[in-house]
Amino acid sequence: MAQQQWQVHDMNRPRPPVVTPGKTDDQPPSDAIVLFDGSNMDQWVHDKASGPRWAIVDGAMQCAKDAGYIGTKKQFGSMQLHIEWAAPSKVEGSSQGRGNSGVFLMGTYEIQVLDSFNNDTYPDGQASAVYGQHPPDVNASRGPGEWQSYDVIFHRPIFKGQTDEVERPGTVTVFHNGVLVQDHWVIKGITYHKLQPAYKYHADKMPLKLQDHGNPVRFRNVWVRELAD
Ligand code: MG
Repeated sequence: MAQQQWQVHDMNRPRPPVVTPGKTDDQPPSDAIVLFDGSNMDQWVHDKASGPRWAIVDGAMQCAKDAGYIGTKKQFGSMQLHIEWAAPSKVEGSSQGRGNSGVFLMGTYEIQVLDSFNNDTYPDGQASAVYGQHPPDVNASRGPGEWQSYDVIFHRPIFKGQTDEVERPGTVTVFHNGVLVQDHWVIKGITYHKLQPAYKYHADKMPLKLQDHGNPVRFRNVWVRELAD
């Protein structure tokens, strides 16, 4: 922490930049990077070179089975993220098979997307869990087909040089439908299915990714504000 250089109520202190908020709190403020506004998927690329494709259906990006992950062309580190999603209204499957997708911060750290409305599964894999690490504090899920929101504050991990050791681990705070569900959770590393998480060195900025888990989950109104580390 830099030494306090301002007096209390110091008028010489620099003013915070002015940001024009959205008309409603879910709309992007003036300093946001809009990643999807319903009109096109120009900000996104498929991981897979060919095959089925995510597509815009009724103003939302919809996952297609076997299309693979999509990621942003732009790379991000620490960020404030707003994203809305809906599990299919037609309820099919159970546990991890129902409305599964995921928001992968830095393409690496998954905030689970799942239809967790009357759908039991392992708690660290339900909606808004830090997958494989930490269940949400409460289950604030809306029903299948209903739009839900995640508001995420993510601070990327800082690595010791280019090693797998961290100077400072990543942290994540998540609001699910406006309800605090992850309260500054200290991320334990990359999640491996059925294995203990561990950090693995990666770049300072990487794409935000959305998961194809075989279910036609939809996403809309995606925007990011980049944050200082
Ligand atoms: Mg998932």
